[in-house]
Amino acid sequence: MPRPAHASWSLNTVARRALRYALLVALLAPASPAWSQAPTDSPRETALAQLADAATLVVRGRVHGVEARAANRAVYTYATVAVDEVLKGAGDMASGTTLVVKTLGGAADGLVLHVADAPTFSVGDEAILFLAPRPGDGSLYPVGLSTGVWPVSIDLTGGGPQAGHDEWRGPFDTAFRDRVARSLPALAPYTLVPAEWAPYSQPSYVLLTTDWGGPARWHQADDGRGVTVNFQTGGSVAAIDGALALWNAAGSVLSLRRGADGPAPLDRVCAGFTGSGTIELSWGGPCEEIAPTDTATVGIGGGYITPGRPKTVGTTVFADFVQGIAILNPNRPNAASANCTVEAVAHLLGHAFGLGHSDVATAIMAAVPRGSCTTATPSLDADDRDGIRAIYADIASGPSRPDAPTAISSSTLLSTVALQWTPAVTGGPAYSYSLEAAGSPGGPNFLNPPFTTTGRALTVAGVPPGTYYVRVRASNPLGTSGVSPETQVVVGPCTVPSAPTAFSATVDGLNVAFTWSPPTSGLTQFYRLSAGFASGRADAAVLDGLTATSYSTVAPAGSYYVRVTAVNVCGDGPPTPDTLVQLRSCSAAPNAPTNLRAASSGGVVTLAWDAPVAGDRPARYRIRAGLSPTDLGLLGSGVVTSDSRPVLTASAGAGTYYVQVISTNTCGDSAPSVTTPVTVTP
Ligand SMILES: [Zn+2]
Repeated sequence: MPRPAHASWSLNTVARRALRYALLVALLAPASPAWSQAPTDSPRETALAQLADAATLVVRGRVHGVEARAANRAVYTYATVAVDEVLKGAGDMASGTTLVVKTLGGAADGLVLHVADAPTFSVGDEAILFLAPRPGDGSLYPVGLSTGVWPVSIDLTGGGPQAGHDEWRGPFDTAFRDRVARSLPALAPYTLVPAEWAPYSQPSYVLLTTDWGGPARWHQADDGRGVTVNFQTGGSVAAIDGALALWNAAGSVLSLRRGADGPAPLDRVCAGFTGSGTIELSWGGPCEEIAPTDTATVGIGGGYITPGRPKTVGTTVFADFVQGIAILNPNRPNAASANCTVEAVAHLLGHAFGLGHSDVATAIMAAVPRGSCTTATPSLDADDRDGIRAIYADIASGPSRPDAPTAISSSTLLSTVALQWTPAVTGGPAYSYSLEAAGSPGGPNFLNPPFTTTGRALTVAGVPPGTYYVRVRASNPLGTSGVSPETQVVVGPCTVPSAPTAFSATVDGLNVAFTWSPPTSGLTQFYRLSAGFASGRADAAVLDGLTATSYSTVAPAGSYYVRVTAVNVCGDGPPTPDTLVQLRSCSAAPNAPTNLRAASSGGVVTLAWDAPVAGDRPARYRIRAGLSPTDLGLLGSGVVTSDSRPVLTASAGAGTYYVQVISTNTCGDSAPSVTTPVTVTP
């Protein structure tokens, strides 16, 4: 980390010491103040007093390790801090004492718990930490979440150390220390190092990135399912309903619904991962995340995220929430009035469905709660509505059941029926579709239960022959539409394809290549090639499932009777007539071709020759040509396959050429034929 060394020599001793870490503090993420008590005319002093009163322990220290771990079915981030100075709390704590700040949230073991406004720590940070013990295990956390972490920095122009972030930045001086020392006495016991941390005291710290998987949203909102808010028995149902009503009136596709209440969760289950697909709202105390003396923290809101299901809205890629948490601090200011409780719940729910803090002071999602809740009726600010609608696309009206799909079409292939339909553009979003079939137009549905799918198409195989009238309904949790128009589906009668045509085999030594053309009637699903050692038999080979109209193979020498059959689900079509295929290994190179003739007309040369009458059969012929009888080059190979009267035509420029033909098979080449001249005139 570079230092402004030229400036440091003008500083006093305290400042020099602080400067050693001054720029490291820049690593601190820009922290926004937590939603805390409304400031009066001196925001910094008010915040300082409130935090100092709420804290059990106030220290200045340096972060030398950060690690997130999944524990007790939740994710915590542990920041190991070397204490340089104790401002409140155990006065006998030695400089250099290590304590561990345990913060709910982080990413570990593939689990991400995003907590809005949680403090972020980086190795090297120096800060004033306002800490309180969790009731459950005495572990320390910053009161007011990120608000309770004040970075220490240096004012290079004034020379003195500073503490606080953003608008709270100011002198870290005697007055600051005195104000902390005058705060309410702290009585709660605490533990410097969480119990679960001790077994892992071997430091292997990992820097936590500030990106905890966000931004995130509830993708399930898009298909009309909404998000259910379950809650702990004993709190204000009216406050929940009031908060839900605020967000549900914002005109977004997100529908928040009050779910079931339940008993007070224990053992930090308030924040533990269950993958519930719901937001779990708790009322403070039993969750053991907020000290009873802590009046700086409004609550904790956030959720577990599945980064593997990204979805783009506008230009922003969102991860998917799989569980939301909202833990309300029942202490003031939330309890200042019933309306303040509504706004506090709404604020935490905002975090749980994807909103962070707004810079607009009059917004529900402002970091500092607006004081108006003690007198005015709760309402969203326009900025709040913009926020939720940026994450969740607008819908024209409130949720409703879907309207019937407006069209359905079908196509039939043998016994397989493919159906697709068009959703209505009106009504609520469809979550699923159910298909009905009747034996007459508008007749009673005989599919019981109906076929259901979440897609907009369905393919059904193995449909018995018949005429059907098929229609579809759309559903979401609010209801099921009427039926779509019908499509007539005719299946059968089942007919096999006719025989393939133009079946032929080409033999080259032990290589054989078959080709054929598709049947002239019927649908072919595949071809079957069968070969036998006698006519009509298939005892040599049967090849099923061929979809091309050709097949090549190498087979042992012998005589085979081969045929091809087209097949579909209705059965086998008739076979082609048997073709006799005789495969022979060669014993020697063939003899030379005889009787080579060459003619020319209009720039086209025609060559013809006779196959050798004795010896092994040629598999192919090669043509050699040149402008001199003693300088012939290879013109082509395999251009003419074995034939009793081979003929070749080729175009050529004007001139006199000399050509010869060579027979060839896998044993070798023949001697050349006689060399024959041919003159091409333009
Ligand atoms: Zn907040």
